Amino acid sequence: MTTRVVVGGAVLREGRLLAARRSAPAELAGRWELPGGKVEPGETPPQALVRELREELGVTAEPVERIPGAWPLRPGLELHVWTVRLTAGEPEPLQDHDALRWLTPDEADDVDWLDQDRPAVAEVAGRLAAA
Ligand code: C5P
Repeated sequence: MTTRVVVGGAVLREGRLLAARRSAPAELAGRWELPGGKVEPGETPPQALVRELREELGVTAEPVERIPGAWPLRPGLELHVWTVRLTAGEPEPLQDHDALRWLTPDEADDVDWLDQDRPAVAEVAGRLAAA
C-alpha cells in the first residue's frame, strides 16, 4: 500500500503558533489541529499546504521548513508538518474549523490538540520558546 501524506501547517507569526478548532466530523469536532489536509495526486506536500491554507483560512502562505518526523493517522495515511509563514491575508475559519487561536509557547498546551499533532506542536513550541 502506498502511504498518502496529510500535510499540516505550523503557521507562525510574531512568536505565536496558529491553532484551528475542527468543526467536523463529529468525532473530531472541538479538537484543535494544525490546519492542512491530504496531498492530492500531482501535488508536492508544500503545494498541498498552500492550497489547503488558502481554502481553509483564506490566506496566502509560504511553507518554510519541514519538522522532522511522520506521524501515523490510520493505515496508509501519515502526517507531515511544515512551518509556515503568512505572506498575505488574515486567517479566518472558512472551512473545516469554527475557531482559531494564536498561542504563545506557554499556551501551547491550553487546547485539546489531536493526538497525532502533539509531537510537532511540542517541537514548534519548544523552538518558539527558545527563540
Ligand atoms: O482536512 P482533511 O479532511 O483533508 O484531513 C485528512 C485527515 O487528516 C483527517 O482525518 C484529519 O483529521 C487529519 N488531520 C490531522 N492533523 C492535521 C490535519 C489533518 O490528523 N493537522
